[in-house]
Amino acid sequence: MDQGPQDRCGVFGVWARGEEVAKLAYFGLYALQHRGQEAAGIAVSDGTGVVVYKDLGLVAQVFDEPPLASLRGHIAVGHTRYSTTGSSNWENAQPTLRATMLGADAGRPATTIALAHNGNLVNTTELHRQVQELGLADDSTSDTALVASLLAARPDLSVEAAALEVLPTLRGAFSFVFMDEETLYAARDPQGVRPLVLGRIERGWVVASETAALETVGASFVREVEPGELLSIGDDGLRSARFANPEPKGCLFEYVYLARPDTVIAGRNIYAARVAVGRTLAREHPADADIVIGVPESGIPAAIGYAEASGIPYSAGLVKNAYVGRTFIQPSQTIRELGIRLKLNPLREIVRGKRVVMVDDSIVRGNTQRAQVRLLREAGAVAIHVRISSPPVQWPCFYGIDFATRAELIANGLDTEGIRASIGADSLGYVSLDGLIAATEQPRTRLCRACFDGEYPIGRPEEGLVGKHILEGVQRRIPATLAERNWQTEPATLAERSGHTEPATVAERHQEPGPPVAPTPHPLPLGEPERQSATPNGATSRH
Ligand code: SF4
Repeated sequence: MDQGPQDRCGVFGVWARGEEVAKLAYFGLYALQHRGQEAAGIAVSDGTGVVVYKDLGLVAQVFDEPPLASLRGHIAVGHTRYSTTGSSNWENAQPTLRATMLGADAGRPATTIALAHNGNLVNTTELHRQVQELGLADDSTSDTALVASLLAARPDLSVEAAALEVLPTLRGAFSFVFMDEETLYAARDPQGVRPLVLGRIERGWVVASETAALETVGASFVREVEPGELLSIGDDGLRSARFANPEPKGCLFEYVYLARPDTVIAGRNIYAARVAVGRTLAREHPADADIVIGVPESGIPAAIGYAEASGIPYSAGLVKNAYVGRTFIQPSQTIRELGIRLKLNPLREIVRGKRVVMVDDSIVRGNTQRAQVRLLREAGAVAIHVRISSPPVQWPCFYGIDFATRAELIANGLDTEGIRASIGADSLGYVSLDGLIAATEQPRTRLCRACFDGEYPIGRPEEGLVGKHILEGVQRRIPATLAERNWQTEPATLAERSGHTEPATVAERHQEPGPPVAPTPHPLPLGEPERQSATPNGATSRH
């Protein structure tokens, strides 16, 4: 099944004495669920120790009242994950814990760090070499685990000072939220590729991937975390430090698809930007049609803008089942063959006999749009004009979005007419890059546009060292048992606290520490097998 562009991750942090910080983190992650649905986790500290609870699944599947009630403290860091480096497994779920093992020898108490990451680094192999040289390599296959290891490798320094040494060595996109026993930290790469904002609540501070998450927990927006800035929040208030000069290159795709419509990035509301793109699209690619429909959810604001500018009435035409993204039920082959119908259903009474403009946010492989066009034809539409609120995606993203390889991108091999023919539409039009940029109200020079124009602002990974499983090939050369790994790098796990060398049950691995709870079943992404074997002609879906 064609999943289309997959973001990315959501990060959330809160420092607030007297608040139920785990619950605030839970609701913050709930508001950021769209940024990652593979795993969720929350770490907390009460000032004396950091504990983490995480598992594969949606936020509401991973957490319920008992674990949240046991996560007590005044600092919390939360994460929702979609993997961009490393497999979707428990070890790679975040926040990632690491401890400064030699802290006591270095004249300061050992510190545990919990790190949550949105983005993707491009010098991962270099960082992995550093971690190996320090003797800290383990089974983790994520770039985030490498950074956590490097932060913990300086027991002679405070975490803040270690971060100011490590952060300038990272290349790529990172919005980090991390903590130790006493302090909450937030850091953003010098380009500020992924969003990260600071908010205020009555008793403390909140940081989050999107402003929408601030509003969800009742926090007021203060400002964005600046590109190249490290924030430290503790009993003595908020401190800001620069670890690099800012060179802003915010992700253009956040405006198209990734961010929530009620989020604000660089002063621009995402919904308003999408409506503006739709208006531009109508001017650039008019159509002779009876109705305009949007593909839920991110195609709808652009469809509204298209309708406004064209004078063609807007109507709902496709209904989305919002709850089908992940399920515990493995679909049978018969069910799986329903493909896109599990997620989208046409409103036959609306589209029958009509010439339809269908507005969608992007085309990656083309499988989704081919299936949508077929659905609308079967429902009786007499003409289907596809309009796309982003330019053709021709280049892969190395900064935290898992589109596809370049060879899989339909716009890499076909021109617009070829793509139109491939998806079976009567006409096809993409908004221009200039039109999209204008809608963001950002200068072109402050945006990353690489997936559209191939100009990578931070560079790419070394040739041949590309892909989310890059570290797994490297890791296979490292002999490390589970017991070694736990002892060397995760002293805060229950296994160590209880003297075990290996977690005995899923419940033990599931929560660190606290009373064992019933294991959460690992959800199966609906249609995952199709995603891995999608063919250009397969009927697929992504939202
Ligand atoms: S390549 Fe595209 S998706 Fe990736 S950061 Fe740049 S604009 Fe965003």
